[in-house]
Order: sequence, then structure tokens, then C-alpha cells
Amino acid sequence: MDKSDTSGKFCTFASLKIMSNLGAIENSKVVYATLGCKLNFSETSAIGRTLNEMGFVKAAKGEQAGLVVVNTCSVTDAADKKCRQTIRQLIKKHPNAKVVVTGCYAQLSPGDIAAIPGVDLIIGSNEKNRLAAFVCNLEKSETATIHTSKLKDIKAFSPITSGDDRTRTFLKIQDGCDYFCTYCTIPFARGLSRSGTIAETLNEAKRAIDRGAIELILTGVNIGDFGRNQGETFYQLLETFDKELAGLRVRVGSVEPNLLTNEMIDLMAESSVIMPHFHIPLQSGSDQMLQIMHRKYNTELFVNKVETIKSKCPDAFIGVDVIAGVNGETDELFGETVDLLTELNISQLHAFSYSERPGTAVLKVQPVVPVNTRHKRSLILQKLSDKKLQAFYLASVGQSHNVLFEHDNHHGKLYGFTENYIRVEHNYDTKLINSTCKVKITDFNTADFTMGSEKI
Ligand code: SF4
Repeated sequence: MDKSDTSGKFCTFASLKIMSNLGAIENSKVVYATLGCKLNFSETSAIGRTLNEMGFVKAAKGEQAGLVVVNTCSVTDAADKKCRQTIRQLIKKHPNAKVVVTGCYAQLSPGDIAAIPGVDLIIGSNEKNRLAAFVCNLEKSETATIHTSKLKDIKAFSPITSGDDRTRTFLKIQDGCDYFCTYCTIPFARGLSRSGTIAETLNEAKRAIDRGAIELILTGVNIGDFGRNQGETFYQLLETFDKELAGLRVRVGSVEPNLLTNEMIDLMAESSVIMPHFHIPLQSGSDQMLQIMHRKYNTELFVNKVETIKSKCPDAFIGVDVIAGVNGETDELFGETVDLLTELNISQLHAFSYSERPGTAVLKVQPVVPVNTRHKRSLILQKLSDKKLQAFYLASVGQSHNVLFEHDNHHGKLYGFTENYIRVEHNYDTKLINSTCKVKITDFNTADFTMGSEKI
């Protein structure tokens, strides 16, 4: 069933523009569904922009689509299941549409998706940025056509941005990962680490700014690894953005602790462009577990990074990822994680329950943690996170901050974020939309973890 990439069979963009009937698609309305991470959202936006150039338009709510595009995630079993459900629901809602499925689940398990009646085309990670070109030859058929590449051949990359929200835009600067942590399938789904050059990435950032973006959020799978294939570094990219994007905001996504250098911390502490907002994956606070997971650091290095950040920039926001219940995590080892995180001066935890992924090395490790114990541990971490976040927010009362307000009107309120990622509300005021405004932080709203503010 798995057909290799048939490059050359699909039409070129030049010919697409001439094809006024959009190739084999008669109804030019498209429905998009994106599951998973911010990276997927950026990629769906880029696919949407290309399809728009070809004459497709996003279907309005309730409108019948001629094309359905589903960008999938495969981070857990539950994610796989949700993808299958979403695909089935969309096929039912749009019975005459051609259905295209891409993303991590499509790359890892194309056969599972092809087994869903009504799917026409499955596009792997290497082919994703050419999805629009495949669409022009697409015919409805009994069996799905699969275009995926082997892991070693997944090399395609170009920097892209999300485009739905003018205020905050996700800029994909890197893809893939060489780390092969023992619980993770992302390198199998997205291939090895790669990125564009600093010049190409800056150009894409400037294009997003021309479209109205005020804050760029740098995303990827392992963004600290940016530039390695080009003889450049992530620090150099940040330095360039710091010089070239004065007056704008750049927020850095998750950076592996071993790749978070002291010069990067210094720059993020001092720059007015690169925000003092750190997102660092810890995954476990037990050195034994970090070894089982094949992580590239120990708890000493992690603690050192957090202390360095706080010594240079006491108000910096530090978000930390943790996975609860990976195979091998005894009660005692989980206790080490809780103890470490309780002591650490961090702002928020992103706690996940472990989910087995087929083909990963950690499946051989004992003991296997019962699923309900994984969820209980995750809940303990979530409660700890709420305490940390509340303490971090409360410490900001009375401080003044620059807040970039967004556009949505939530029952007469407007929301935005400070430089150090505190969510702030303000009475709705059209003059504040998409603008940065200096405010004094007032009180803490427990219901939705938001700080009140007064304009100063
Ligand atoms: S660094 Fe992240 S993406 Fe890479 S293998 Fe480890 S967990 Fe997966």
C-alpha cells in the first residue's frame, strides 16, 4: 500500500496557477483541522496560504467543503485516537470532499489512516510542504494514495509562520531531532534536525512583520539545535533578531537545558526584543530516570541553569516540562522529581502523563507504571504548578510592565502578556488592541489565573 514519493507526477506551481478549475477539485472550499503542537499550526497556516494562492478559500462555518486537510499529531495513544475520530467526523460532515491527511501520525502510521474509508491522500513529513501540489492531481478513489519518505530521506525544510493571529505569530525555525530520547517518536515522525540559514529565517520573520505580526514565537522540535547543519548557532540567530527587530517582541520556545548557554541567558536577560521567558524541558527530577530516558543532562546542570537565569533576571518566567510515570519511575524516583521541583525557583510546570509509543526503547524498561498512577502523579505536578504560578503572579503586584494586548473582546475585557509572560486583563479599549501599553499590575484573579491592570 505504501507508495514511494512520486515526485514528478504532480504538477508544478506554475502550471497550477494556469489551471483555473483547480485541477481535479470542483468545490474550492477547504476545511482545515490541526491537532497537536504549535509547529503543526504554523504548518497548516503555510499550507493554507499556498492553497489560497491556487484559488482555494477557507470554508465558512456550516459550508460544504470540496477539500479537507487534516494535520495530525502522534504524541500519545490518545492523540492517535483523536486524529482518527477527527478524520471520521470530517468525512461524515463533508461526504463529497477529497480528504488529505498529513502530520506525524500520517508519517508514522499511514496504514492506519488508509484503513479509514473516505481518506484519499496521505502525505508524510518530507512531502508536507508540497501538499498543495499533490492536491491538483487528486481524484476520489476507493483506496488512499500514500506519499511518505523513509526517515533518512526526511530533509525538507523552510522557515514558515502561522498567520491567523496578527498579534502573536509562530515562526517555525527548525524541524526534526537527533536526540532519540527513549520514550519519544518525534525523530521518527519528523526526521533529523535541520533548519534554514539565519538570513532565510530573518526574511521569513520580516514577511510576518509586514503582515502585521508584533510578537514572534520561535518554534521547532529542538530549536536550540538551530543552524548546526549550516555552521551557524541559535545564539547567533537571537543576536541577529535582537539587532534587526527593534521595537518588536521575540519569544523563545522550548530549549533543551544542555543547549541553553550562558550567553543566551545573558542576551535574554538584557535584550528589549528577546523576552525574558524561558521554557526548559526537565522531564524528570531523578538522575536515574534521566539516564533511562537518554536525556543529555543531569539535575545538577538543570538546577544550575535555573539559578543562572534567576541571578541575571529575577523576574524571568521559567516554564518546565515534566512527564509522569515513564517506565522505571518508582514512587521513590517520582518523589525525587517532586522534591526537586518544589525547591526550584520556576514559574509553571507543563505536566504530562506518559503514554507508550510503539517502537521506543523505554518499552523494555521495568517497572511499568500503572496508568492510573501516571495520572495521579501528573495531577500532583499540576497542583504544584498552580502553586508556583500563583506565587509568580502574586510577586508581580505593584510592578509596572509593558503588555502586548490582543484583539478578542471577552465579555468587556481585553487580554495580553507582559514581557515575562504574565497574563493581564484590562477593560476593553479599542485603542489598546495590538499595541504595547505600560500598565501597573493590580490584583490576582484566581478564577482564570490573570492579573488585573491599570494604564499608567
Ligand atoms: S529532545 Fe525532545 S523531540 Fe528530541 S527525542 Fe528528546 S523528547 Fe523527542
